[in-house]
Amino acid sequence: MMEVLERAKELEARGESVIHFEVGEPDFDTPSVISQEAIKSIEEGDTKYTHSLGIHELRDSVSKNYKTNYGVDINPGRVVITMGSSPALYLSIISLIEPGDEVLITDPHYACYPQIIKIAGGVPKTFRIYENEGFQINVDRLKESISKNTKAIIINSPANPTGVVLQPEIMREIAGLGITIISDEIYHGLVYEGQARTIYEVTDNAFAVNGFSKFYSMTGWRLGYLIAPDEFIRPIQKLQQNLFISPNSFVQRAGVKALMSAQDDARGMAELFGERRKAMIEGIKGLGFNIYTEPLGAFYLFVDASRLNPNSHELAFDILENAHVAVTPGIDFGEGGEGYLRLSYATSIANINEGISRLGEYINQKGISL
Ligand code: PMP
Repeated sequence: MMEVLERAKELEARGESVIHFEVGEPDFDTPSVISQEAIKSIEEGDTKYTHSLGIHELRDSVSKNYKTNYGVDINPGRVVITMGSSPALYLSIISLIEPGDEVLITDPHYACYPQIIKIAGGVPKTFRIYENEGFQINVDRLKESISKNTKAIIINSPANPTGVVLQPEIMREIAGLGITIISDEIYHGLVYEGQARTIYEVTDNAFAVNGFSKFYSMTGWRLGYLIAPDEFIRPIQKLQQNLFISPNSFVQRAGVKALMSAQDDARGMAELFGERRKAMIEGIKGLGFNIYTEPLGAFYLFVDASRLNPNSHELAFDILENAHVAVTPGIDFGEGGEGYLRLSYATSIANINEGISRLGEYINQKGISL
């Protein structure tokens, strides 16, 4: 994906116009009520280390937010504030596993999961999910991957790269397996029909990873959090103290503002994503691509493009060079993503329409019928 982005930037530097369907972050500005709070906080001198687990107000707000959104009771003492959800993922995995332990992940999966597991000394073990099963987790197939070394499973709903929201019955079945679950809930709030469920609605044997990057359009602020079982808090605190000291001071104040006063702004952005989602799905179907199940969350469409070229890396570069549309090759997300392209609709409807039209011309030129 980074190679695609770098090549796209080269083309742009030459004056070419490139439509960006490869990006994994919202294009909106952070709501100004949040930015203003950070500015005020800096001006008030809130620029020192904070408590290593994060400021109390933010841990409380996270706990309240989980109560309001899902009806679950989370003691604020179980909330650890982190610099984005990425450190939260790392802290959960490294506090949970011993060298050689296996962590189950779907294939395709978010590209960083296997790397984080390996850095923590673990072994990523994948099991396939398939488009003709709606990219849902098939629990029988998952069971086949369980071994005596299995320590945890990472689930991600809504998912990157598929956009799929996991069915609640499947979450319950996975919880029933008794394996510790790390639930990556970073795309919560970006669900266009129904609602995403937190893992804590079905089990306490779990870590929840979440943050402000996607729903509040705060990728560059680096603010996230981890909810962990009580007995893990002290070891995680020691890790945080040694690795990061504390999360960013004024950014945490802005985070409190986001949770307490920016819900409407964030929902407004989610509504716009909903409109873009429709435009992207209609456009892609109009080109003749098959979409078995329309994904209900995040801002991605994972499209089988194997008839154009089964090698998704080659295909992404060919599309970039010839149609000036940047897309992410499915192989970035594991073997199970080969033949697919991830299209992000974190861009304007005008850009989506232009990108679709360029893809249409590209397909016509190739003379391939989808
Ligand atoms: N999990 C998933 C599934 C993601 O897509 C991303 C960002 N692309 C992250 C975690 C990390 O997000 P951040 O560190 O910005 O919170």
